[in-house]
Amino acid sequence: MLYTRRGAPLSLTPDVLSSMKHMPPAYGVDTIQFLAGPSPEVLAAHGQGGHNFLAIPKTMPLVASNRDPTMYEYGAKPSTDQGTYVTIHTGAALVPPEKYMAIIAALQPDLYVALCDEITHDAKPKKIEQTIKRSAKWLDACLNLHSSHSLEGVSGMLAPIGGGNSLKERSRAAKMVADKPVAGFALAGFATGEAPGAERGALLSAAIEQLPANKIRYMPGMLSPVDLLDCVAKGVDLFDGAFPVQVTSEGYALCFPLQPSQPPPAGQPDVESGVDETKINLWAAAYRLDKSGLVPGCTCYACTRHSRAYVHHLLQTNEMLGEVLLEVHNTHHFQAFLGAVRKAIESGTFAEYHTWFKERYLQQQQPEDLQDAGKSLAEAGKDLTRPVGSGGKRPTWTRSDGDDGKKEEKDQAKQQRTQ
Ligand SMILES: [Zn+2]
Repeated sequence: MLYTRRGAPLSLTPDVLSSMKHMPPAYGVDTIQFLAGPSPEVLAAHGQGGHNFLAIPKTMPLVASNRDPTMYEYGAKPSTDQGTYVTIHTGAALVPPEKYMAIIAALQPDLYVALCDEITHDAKPKKIEQTIKRSAKWLDACLNLHSSHSLEGVSGMLAPIGGGNSLKERSRAAKMVADKPVAGFALAGFATGEAPGAERGALLSAAIEQLPANKIRYMPGMLSPVDLLDCVAKGVDLFDGAFPVQVTSEGYALCFPLQPSQPPPAGQPDVESGVDETKINLWAAAYRLDKSGLVPGCTCYACTRHSRAYVHHLLQTNEMLGEVLLEVHNTHHFQAFLGAVRKAIESGTFAEYHTWFKERYLQQQQPEDLQDAGKSLAEAGKDLTRPVGSGGKRPTWTRSDGDDGKKEEKDQAKQQRTQ
């Protein structure tokens, strides 16, 4: 899906999006971000749903998740049976099922995640048990409201499945919703601190084994390409598209090969310029006079028209166009990667593709210094109080949206990369 914040892509305009060769197949929004500014009342008064309000083509599916993968909105206060507390751009807010479903009714998405009592990976057993019970109760409330808002035939619901770090509770939570009249399921609470690989895989399997094979499994949470492939191997079908956006915010251009037949990126990993075999860092002074495209051979708008030197200059001078060009390239590259994954699944060669990609991709982890260049991505799921590239500071809506905050983040990223 295309990642958006409050319904808008971070750097891509509709005309740029429509001209892209690899378009994301769905448009993602976070339901919680429509609690206020715009409120569900404003959306409803505007009419004809989120497609009309956000100027999305009717042919583009709109998917409403229950969380933003780049910042953790839950836990402003402990949830109660009445609803969950979130932090949004206007402050803390209580979200009962009625309010949540009023937003869904106004957005009329093609697919949406029902209200969930979200917890992070470090939640204690008693808390896990309580949130499963509460989420099940809210799911029933959302199903009733789905009918009363006449959303049958308009929107498909995804039932959230919690369970935290417990295999037993993941399995129990999945069994509780497996027979519900929903379009699919959302695997909640992942990428919040669990170890990718074996631990996450076991938790996913515990839930997915209880679910019908013919319904969608969606997993919110920012994932690197290799983590995403691991989740596909476990049976996840749908992901948010936050990874290329976060890479863009750090000034990187993705360059990992998409097929075994493709040569590795030119040049050697370089600690000083923050380069590894998956991405290059355009903040680095090494690109000041580099006339080549971001990634040689790439057919995206940015790579076919502009040089690394120009993008480096735009980042250095805090010109918005720098992030626009990087997001064009990174979205194009990431969607081409997902296209290759879909082809491998269709042709029955996913296992081979997965093995090749994982071995190839993980080569970036040597030497150790290079791990630091991508460490913030790996840490994003562990420390949900900050977005990638923020220098460890807690994000706020004003900082995310305001010029001053952005400049500060860019300056920090610049210093980190050029040290
Ligand atoms: Zn490109």
